[in-house]
Parts: sequence; C-alpha cells; structure tokens
Amino acid sequence: EKIRLGIIYGGKSSEHEVSLRTALSIMKAVDMDKYDITPIYVSLDGAWIKGDAMSGLLPESIASLRLTNGENDAEQMSTGLVRSSRAASPFSIGQQVDVFFPVVHGPNGEDGTIQGLLELSNLPYVGTGVMASAVGMDKWMMKTVFAQAGLPQVRYVGLLRSQWEKNRDATMDRIEQELGYPCFVKPVNMGSSVGISKAKNRSELEEALNIAAKFDRRMIVEQFVKARELEIGVLGNEETITSVVGEIVAAKEFYDYEAKYKGAGTELSIPAKVPQHVSEQIAEIAKKAFQALDGSGLSRVDFFWDEEHDKLYINEVNTMPGFTPYSMYPMLFQAAGISYSELIDRLVQLALERHADKQ
Ligand code: ADP
Ligand code: MG
Ligand code: MG
Repeated sequence: EKIRLGIIYGGKSSEHEVSLRTALSIMKAVDMDKYDITPIYVSLDGAWIKGDAMSGLLPESIASLRLTNGENDAEQMSTGLVRSSRAASPFSIGQQVDVFFPVVHGPNGEDGTIQGLLELSNLPYVGTGVMASAVGMDKWMMKTVFAQAGLPQVRYVGLLRSQWEKNRDATMDRIEQELGYPCFVKPVNMGSSVGISKAKNRSELEEALNIAAKFDRRMIVEQFVKARELEIGVLGNEETITSVVGEIVAAKEFYDYEAKYKGAGTELSIPAKVPQHVSEQIAEIAKKAFQALDGSGLSRVDFFWDEEHDKLYINEVNTMPGFTPYSMYPMLFQAAGISYSELIDRLVQLALERHADKQ
C-alpha cells in the first residue's frame, strides 16, 4: 500500500516563494513506489488548489526552474500549477490523502493555522501541532516559554505598537536603560528576517521600531550579542534525536532575507567547528526547548554562541525550517547519517504515530 501524501505549500505568507522551493524538492525526492503525492497549492490570496496529477504539476519548464527570490520565477511556478490544477476545499481533500505535509513557512502556515484546520478535520500531518507552531512563530511568547523553562537567552523587551506610537520617547528611554546599543528590533510574528533591523543609536532605533511596526502590532527588542550562529535539528515526538551542529557563516552584518535565500555570501559549516562541550550543551538545550513547546516531528533550534565568554543563548525554534536538500535542517541530518528521503519517511511515520497517540 502506498502512502497518500498531501503536500500543502505556498500560502498567504511572505515566505510563499521559499515554500514553493521546499515543496518541489520534496516531490522530487520521495520514493514513488512508497508514496502517491497530491500537491495542494495555497495561493497568495489563500485559495486552495489541488493538483490533478503529479505530471501535470511538474512540467519540465517548472521542474528545471532555478527558483530564486525573483518574482517571475514564483509567478511562473504558481501560474503553471494553477493551469493544471483545480480548486479544492481543505476538507474535501481529506478522503484522498493519508497524511499531510504542510510546508508553509511563516505566518498563516507555520503558526498553527493550517495545523488547526487539519486538526478540525482529524487528519494526520507532519510537524508540530497547533500550540507549538503558534508559540514558535511568536517571538515574544516563545521567549516567555524559554524563560519559564530556564533556558539561557538574551535580554529583551516586548512592546505593543500602540505603546510605541503613543509614547515614542519613553519607549526609547526604556529600551536604552534596559538593553542599550546595539540592539535588534523585530516584529513578533515574522520569519526569514523580515522587518528586522539592528540599531546602533537612538535615531536608528526610532527607524527600526517604525519598520517593525509596519509588520506587526507587537514587537520585540533584544540586546545585541556578538556571537557565532549555531543551529541544530531536532527530530521526534516525545522522544527526540538531534543532528550534528551547523554554523551559519554570514559575510553580511547579519543573516538577513537576502543572505538566507539568495545565498549572498553565506556559507553553512557542517559540522560546526566548535568544542564538544558547546555542541553537547546545544543538543541538550534544543531538546528542552522542543519539549517546552510540546514540539513534534521536526524543529531547527538556533543559537548564539559568544565564543569569547563561552556563553550560549538560545535564539529561536523554527517549527517548519527551510527544507530543501540544501537547507540547514536536512543537511544537518544528512551529516548525522539520515538522508533527505529517509528524513521525509521518518517525518511521515512520526506524523502517523502522533495522530494514533491522540485517538
Ligand atoms: P528570523 O525568525 O526572521 O530568522 P531571527 O530572530 O533569527 O529572526 O533574526 C535574524 C538574524 O538576525 C539572526 O540570524 C542573526 O543574524 C541576527 N540577530 C537576531 N537577533 C540578534 C541578536 N540579539 N544579536 C545578534 N544578532 C541577532
Ligand atoms: Mg525564525
Ligand atoms: Mg532565525
């Protein structure tokens, strides 16, 4: 019996294009003797479109596209898909699929919304559930959970946009007192470094808060740490394994959207060249963070390591990390001896086990 795997991708999200790339990679990588694939494309305006057939969905022109962030590529891929597909409701697809793999990053996908829809339909799906997804997408709530779990993290201040708009000087005074410069300003609910900026003085802070406020009604400001960026993969449900540790070596000042997805001057170093006690501590904290969020399936847990003071800080848990074969998470497990297609097999099994556990 083949497993009928529904891949949900695209989405009403700023990371729409990244998701297309991930979905395409999964479709290409899975063993067709083991799986029947149903591609389910969610358009930028939120329409669900189900592919009638794999072949129709992956014409050579699309399959061979070197997808970049260029709008045209994404446009080509989504219009190509729409042409060979038909509209569907997420509920009606349920009967034709055994397990879903939602590869939608960012708000409206990685944040528990799609997961909630699948829960309502009582359908199994890969990855974290509603709560872990929602908390993982909310940088403020995530920090609250980390603090409660006693995990080391940088100092931070959470702010409402309305507070900022009403009282700009007092807000900046408070940030200067509690954190100082440089600091990082982030919208609470984004990913892929969207809306994030570093501020070295008061005028930059003002500008950074204005930018972040465009993306969310809640913001977080963090103390800047001069540190190496280390990441680890977690795989499992209640019992987890971790991958090797990897390092992001960014040529730019920080790991921004361009650096992440255009590969502009960014290198991944796998395994990271760090002392053993550091990688051991990372694995331990990553498992604790995953557990604190009630994670399931997969997460990539990101850290800052201040080498000079040998201090480790957890930065974030990404519950639906980049998942092309050249993304950090799959490469970290590749280095740990688990290939891309085996990783997909394991995630599907974990999804089915988790679903059975709930019943
Ligand atoms: P996202 O969820 O968008 O990836 P992050 O919180 O990971 O957002 O921030 C993006 C990048 O900004 C990080 O990978 C890092 O390069 C830099 N950065 C974020 N916070 C800090 C910080 N407190 N100190 C130093 N660099 C930071
Ligand atoms: Mg993130
Ligand atoms: Mg990040």
